[in-house]
Amino acid sequence: MASIFTKIINREIPADIVYETEDIIAFNDINPQAKYHILVVPKKEISTINDIQKEDTDLIGKIYLAIKEITKELGIDKTGYRVITNCNEDGGQEVFHIHFHILGGEKIGPMRS
Ligand code: C5P
Repeated sequence: MASIFTKIINREIPADIVYETEDIIAFNDINPQAKYHILVVPKKEISTINDIQKEDTDLIGKIYLAIKEITKELGIDKTGYRVITNCNEDGGQEVFHIHFHILGGEKIGPMRS
């Protein structure tokens, strides 16, 4: 079954898309945890970090280049931001299509609160 993010990629459900290439999409999180909260998602359905394969090396690199581009565009590259990928239950992962949260635009709190 297609993940909810694949449905966004396929325009089957709406999202506020801010960046898109052949391999990657990024959109504003519907439940923002910071002034800027963007999800960067590879179009390839990789469930978790544990499912990344060697053949995905280039794709994961492209994710970070996308993050660099998006944060520069937002003007938060110099002030800073946080990138998070949750993995499985203890990591708090809810959507099993790997994604990278960008949180920024304000001071992001401690890792544990
Ligand atoms: O890392 P985790 O799997 O918990 O994050 C899923 C994220 O996807 C949540 O922050 C949630 O708000 C977001 N989401 C979204 N649009 C949807 C469904 C979930 O932005 N349609």
